[in-house]
Amino acid sequence: MLTTPQNPAAALASVRERITVAARTASRNPASITLVGVAKSQPLERLRSALDAGLADLGENYLQEARTHFDALAGRTFRRHFIGALQTNKTRDVAQLFDWVHTVDRLRIAERLSAQRPAALPPLEVCIQVHVGDESSKSGVAPAGLGALAEAVTRLPQLRLRGLMCLPPEETDPARQRRWFRELRRLAEGLNAAGHRLDVLSMGMSGDFESAIAEGATHLRIGTAVFGARG
Ligand SMILES: *Cc1c(COP(=O)(O)O)cnc(C)c1O
Repeated sequence: MLTTPQNPAAALASVRERITVAARTASRNPASITLVGVAKSQPLERLRSALDAGLADLGENYLQEARTHFDALAGRTFRRHFIGALQTNKTRDVAQLFDWVHTVDRLRIAERLSAQRPAALPPLEVCIQVHVGDESSKSGVAPAGLGALAEAVTRLPQLRLRGLMCLPPEETDPARQRRWFRELRRLAEGLNAAGHRLDVLSMGMSGDFESAIAEGATHLRIGTAVFGARG
């Protein structure tokens, strides 16, 4: 429905056009919005086609799959975003392989990522994942714990706190979609009022990215609308 799976280049162009329209509608510069193509469960050929067509950011949920992708795509230049759930036994590999981690949700994970980030690499760009909405199954720090976690993360030398990320309940009504994204934006504004300098809101997926743009998203994580249905 959303895309022609055989042709990620055309799907990418169509998503970019929708991003541009949504940005203009919100009086925002489309160039301030980064499209992270979510690679989970996608065939390599689709990833190659999208990268050929100018996609510059890939998002990965699973470390093992990310390794396979990165090995197969060696020699190409793209930013690597980790967007999956993080367990402590994965932090070392993530700290070595990725440029960004969107899913920091507790201090222990942040401390390990900082300690394990190779000194030769620039600090890891990170977002704190915040639990918005009412589903108990989604991870993320509760809004009440966000201030303390943000404060602690900014003190870690090999991490650079860039912003907040959320994975809200699936909604089809744009007004309801926007509610969760607005909540995340307000949390970031609150942190900035307290002295932080966050410039990233990682929010919006295939089914709700236009609503996310309306609420200030800077990083959209989009899988199926670019690559087609997951295999
Ligand atoms: C799978 C996934 C996405 C992309 O979902 P689509 O609906 O395919 O766009 C975005 N963010 C996270 C954290 C995901 O796990």
